[in-house]
Amino acid sequence: MSSFAGRMKEYPNMSLDRFDRENLHARAYFLSHCHKDHMKGLKGPLLKRKLKFSLTVKLYCSFVTKELLLSNPKYAFWEDHIVALELESPTLITLIDEASGEREELVVTLLPAGHCPGSVMFLVEGAQGTVLYTGDFRLAKGDASRIELLHSGSRVKDIKSVYLDSTFYDPRFYQIPSRETCLHAIRGLVQDWVSRSVYHTVWLNCKAAYGYEYLFTNLGDEFHTQIHVKSLDMFKKMPEILSHVTTDRATQIHACRHPKDEEFVPASRLPCGSSASDGTPLSIISIKPSTMWFGERTQRTKVIVRTGASSYRACFSFHSSYSEVRHLPAYLSVCLGLCLSASVCDTLLFFLFSDKRLPVLSPANQHLPQCHSYCKKLWGTLNDIFGIKSQLCSLIHRNLLELLFIGKISKLRDDMPATNTDTTHPGISDHIMKDKNCTSEFHKVSV
Ligand SMILES: [Zn+2]
Ligand SMILES: [Zn+2]
Repeated sequence: MSSFAGRMKEYPNMSLDRFDRENLHARAYFLSHCHKDHMKGLKGPLLKRKLKFSLTVKLYCSFVTKELLLSNPKYAFWEDHIVALELESPTLITLIDEASGEREELVVTLLPAGHCPGSVMFLVEGAQGTVLYTGDFRLAKGDASRIELLHSGSRVKDIKSVYLDSTFYDPRFYQIPSRETCLHAIRGLVQDWVSRSVYHTVWLNCKAAYGYEYLFTNLGDEFHTQIHVKSLDMFKKMPEILSHVTTDRATQIHACRHPKDEEFVPASRLPCGSSASDGTPLSIISIKPSTMWFGERTQRTKVIVRTGASSYRACFSFHSSYSEVRHLPAYLSVCLGLCLSASVCDTLLFFLFSDKRLPVLSPANQHLPQCHSYCKKLWGTLNDIFGIKSQLCSLIHRNLLELLFIGKISKLRDDMPATNTDTTHPGISDHIMKDKNCTSEFHKVSV
């Protein structure tokens, strides 16, 4: 979940992936991809009014993102204000202050982000130095070295800051199997099932968001079939995806969703209600692509785990793993501008609670003195963390962050006696997050 506030300290006149609040004053907008958490304010009435009276304000994105955005009528008012840019082709953009006429020139380059259709990173070069805004990305180690425009000649460009997707900047996700490994495993499971009979059907339980198309196109190719989806509208201008999906329910692979209930998980029926024409009941398995779920396992698991009689979880990530995220700024030799998902505190809480059981520890608990002393220490540390968390959107040097938190927390945790009580910590996340006005999504920690 992106919690980036929209502006980079080097170039505050441009807003990226955030379109409300102070971003309303931006001179140019940039959208890295079409996921809702990167589009806050994009269809807001204030921005709509600003566009009406502006001659110069544009939204820059990739061609695919433009198509995806305009396939939703709520964003149709952007049509005359979108400039789609080619990938890997540096473009001079002039930011103009419409009141004073002041101009600022930047060279912006879109780099492939490997996250979902149309997703890009923005490389910005100008008077304040070169910075990279990644948006959400999935790049394997070594991918950055193949991006020519991050280099000048044989050297890496001098990059001042990287604004990084930190969704899985969390040691629980130290390594996530590669996309190919995950696809290979899913392909094996599908093959084994659909080859049994024409009544054997697979339902891919994917969320309603872009990013799974990689799965559809590859499975479609492999099994010479099309995948049943709810609607083709968003793929209208993307022939390479369109040819692999269908609204015809007579197929053995479905990724449709229930029209009314997004959470609907059928046991013996498909969300679209499709059945065999001769009345034979279908044998259905569901495969739920997940990353978070795998990160939460304390034991190492396989890429595919059976979770019920006919349900499976398959590891699938369109975000980089912890080690991949760390690799990028290290490769570019820059400090880490941790700014997007601010999941560090969640990580720390996980560190604290992952395999040790604690007695009551709750912000609502007024009786801390009665708790064990390590509880008090812990509480103090949590306060430190959350005090600093509110500032996480600004740049924090990676080493400082680690020194401050990870060492401290690991030590506390090591000092803690393990207990076997079944006590949980009701509402800890909610309370702390509310107290600190934190807007980033908190992953519940169950103890
Ligand atoms: Zn995304
Ligand atoms: Zn279906």
